[in-house]
Formats: sequence, structure tokens, C-alpha cells
Amino acid sequence: MGPPGAGKGTQGELLAEHLGVPRLSTGDMLRDARANQTDLGRRAERYMDAGELVPDQVILGMVAEALDGPEPLEGFILDGFPRTIPQAEGLGELLEKRGTPLDAVVFLTVPEDELVRRLTGRSAQEHRTDDDPETVRRRIQVYRAETEPVIRSCLESGVRVVRADGVGSIDEIQRDLRGQLGL
Ligand code: ADP
Repeated sequence: MGPPGAGKGTQGELLAEHLGVPRLSTGDMLRDARANQTDLGRRAERYMDAGELVPDQVILGMVAEALDGPEPLEGFILDGFPRTIPQAEGLGELLEKRGTPLDAVVFLTVPEDELVRRLTGRSAQEHRTDDDPETVRRRIQVYRAETEPVIRSCLESGVRVVRADGVGSIDEIQRDLRGQLGL
């Protein structure tokens, strides 16, 4: 978990490779769905471009399909999900049903001015449609309002929460995470 631009995708991918498990990124799944112009992709478009969240039921259906579709997954890293309290509750039910509780929640912190710098700087390279300054500010606002409460509820629920400083080199941050997770 962490704000947009914190490096969840980069660090999540390195952890997933290290563990030999897939990384499930709801943002990547949605971008794929858009690129393929599926019904889901078309429904998600306007939310993504406005920096708003795609409705919880859409996201929960997509994640359930990824976890328990034709090839049910054992281990996995979730990236960009859950992002709201209802998503966290839905995930809790899914995991309970399959008997696979979360091992840990990883939380990356980065100051806001650095986030804006990273996100508005990356649009030139990656051409994401939601990296213009106004949409970036909206994504950060939505994160504060909808996603920070999920982190608080994780802390209260007693699940293991590992918190790392997201400012530094990619390798340093990965080393810190693996150290804290005992991997
Ligand atoms: P970032 O975290 O950098 O904003 P993501 O790639 O995770 O980027 O998400 C991009 C967009 O996709 C979000 O702004 C939102 O519109 C949508 N999205 C991704 N994951 C979720 C989710 N779990 N719930 C709702 N919307 C989501």
C-alpha cells in the first residue's frame, strides 16, 4: 500500500520475483482491460482519467476472478488493492473463504511534493492518461480520503504491517523491505 507514485509497482514486482509468485496490480488489470476495450475496460475509463476510483464491485469482481479463476493462485502480491474500506472487507471475505490469510501488509511512505514530482515527470515517458498535474492531485486526495483509512484499519486489526521509507534507491528500499519481512 502507499500513495500513487510511491513505487508500489516497482517494489511489488521485485518482491514477487524474489518469492516466485505473481503480482496482481488492479491498475495494470484495468489498463489491460481498457487497451482491449472489454466491457469492464470501457466502464473503468472515465474514472481512471479523472483520478477517481473505479466502483468497488467492479474491482472486487476482477480480483475474485484473478484469485479464483481457471487457475487458482496460492501465493500472490496485491498491488493497488484494497483501496477502500469496502474493498478491504470484500478481500477479507474472499481470503477467509479460500483459507489464505494475508501474511503482511507493506506500506510505502513518500512526502507529497516528491509524489507530485515523480508522477508529473513520468507522464512523458509512460504516457499514462492520468498523470497530468490536476489529475495527480486528485489521485492523491482520493488516496488520503479513501485508502489511508484502510491502513489504519489494518493497524487496528492486528495484521502484520511493515512500513518502509519509499525515498531512496530501488535496491535500498527492496533490501529494507526484505529485511523487515524476513525474506
Ligand atoms: P496509482 O496508484 O499510481 O494511482 P494505479 O495504476 O494503481 O495507479 O491505478 C490507476 C487508476 O486505476 C486509479 O486512479 C483508479 O482509477 C484505478 N484503480 C486501480 N486500482 C483500483 C482499486 N483497487 N479500486 C478502484 N480503482 C482502482
